[in-house]
Amino acid sequence: MKYISTRSKIAPVNSAEAILQGLAPDGGLFVPESIPKMKLEEIGELVEKSYTQRAGIILQKFLTDYTADELFECAELAYNWFDNQKKVPMSILVQDPQHPKFPIGVAELWHGPTYAFKDLALQILPRLMTYALKKTGETKEILILVATSGDTGKAALAGFADVPQTKIMVFYPNGGVSKIQRLQMVTQTGGNVNVMAVNGNFDDAQNGVKKIFNDEKIREQLAASNIKLSSANSINWGRLAPQIVYYFSSYAEFIKAKQLNLGDQVNVIVPTGNFGNILAAYYAKRMGLPIKRLICASNVNNVLTEFFRTGIYNRNREFHKTISPSMDILISSNLERLLYHEAGHTDQVKRFMTQLNTTGKYKIDPPLKKKLDKIFYADFATEEETSHMIKEMFTHFKYIVDPHTAVALKVLSNYRRDTRDMTTCIVAGTASPFKFTGAVLNALGENVDGLDDFKQLDQLGLITNRKVPRNLEKLNGAEILHADVCEKDEMLNEVLKFVTK
Ligand SMILES: *Cc1c(COP(=O)(O)O)cnc(C)c1O
Repeated sequence: MKYISTRSKIAPVNSAEAILQGLAPDGGLFVPESIPKMKLEEIGELVEKSYTQRAGIILQKFLTDYTADELFECAELAYNWFDNQKKVPMSILVQDPQHPKFPIGVAELWHGPTYAFKDLALQILPRLMTYALKKTGETKEILILVATSGDTGKAALAGFADVPQTKIMVFYPNGGVSKIQRLQMVTQTGGNVNVMAVNGNFDDAQNGVKKIFNDEKIREQLAASNIKLSSANSINWGRLAPQIVYYFSSYAEFIKAKQLNLGDQVNVIVPTGNFGNILAAYYAKRMGLPIKRLICASNVNNVLTEFFRTGIYNRNREFHKTISPSMDILISSNLERLLYHEAGHTDQVKRFMTQLNTTGKYKIDPPLKKKLDKIFYADFATEEETSHMIKEMFTHFKYIVDPHTAVALKVLSNYRRDTRDMTTCIVAGTASPFKFTGAVLNALGENVDGLDDFKQLDQLGLITNRKVPRNLEKLNGAEILHADVCEKDEMLNEVLKFVTK
């Protein structure tokens, strides 16, 4: 299996190279030359397998320059410290008072070390990179630069800490992340990690990182010190491929629970920001997983809802800060891959992306729009609707969800109301409710005045009768290892200081 670019004809590369490079040389994203298939009987065989075995089998279809043993080992090492033996357990909710016969399965994608679904990819990516270095004969040290608004930074740090031949540096906006998110990052151990607050907002941090990436001179300077830059954000194919696994795995779990027969269709619903997670579900569908509809759920930053409804992508709009902050995004980078696969031309994709860059918007043609209509449904939830859904889930099911997952559940109820399509559903549960304690307690009608973050954790644990996740509890009193702050125009200097240390 070779990888090509979404924007122009480049020489195809194998997956190890695509993973090391992150971004294609023409600025496009790497996509597989063709999409491999899973026969129904192969899907059936997954039912009796462990999550790790399922991962090995699916990844082999895409990462053909890795051996089966290598992929299996990467998955073992990545997932063995998840706090649930199933790695991605399904909570099947069948007592829906409105629709008792039509189950919803929440795939809990948040049992990794940082309690967000990003762990599923960021725990395995460093291991895939380590093999990629060997396979390509690369002797330079890989430097991963990350700008984060919270979740990605910690998940990347946890994944890359002490991985040989790599270094990782994370920038976050000073005062722009939650106290828990900050503590998660600044207490990170490991000889190859660095975390720095930037005086500015998330865009300043992101622009600073982009500038370093796009500067040929800096790359040369780093190469002279034996350093090669790479990326750990969701444009890297090595982050996308591992996400395809859990859709197959969740389907297998539904069969195992006797809620589905092999071959039955499901709908998949995903709370969406950068479009990485739902794109993985799209690949699963194209591979042969019986998915009827992909349902794209947004918060009030609903640029994707408008896109799927009108065919116009327009980022020129007000940016809203919400209680589901990991979806507060106006440029969904991975949409580019979908456009490539459905339009089938690099020329069109290049035109759209150029327009997006220059005018902030583009419009797809009617034939392409029609194709997307068959596959996707899109809607969004307001802040009030999101809070209400958290409360409703707790009232009906004694099941507690985080605000991102609540957005998905609300959009699912809209979808069922509008279409009368009651197909069994897999909902991507993207974060632990304990990561968003304040919003969840508020939604449940609890008074949080005067409670600090750790008291809030305890209170949520008490109300829901659940254990506070250990890695969050441990942050109370943990040693701060990275207290540094820099100005936005000092970011490059800080990177150079770090790599020559
Ligand atoms: C990153 C994230 C999302 C959005 O996922 P994308 O792949 O960017 O669409 C949703 N929920 C949570 C909790 C996240 O951390």
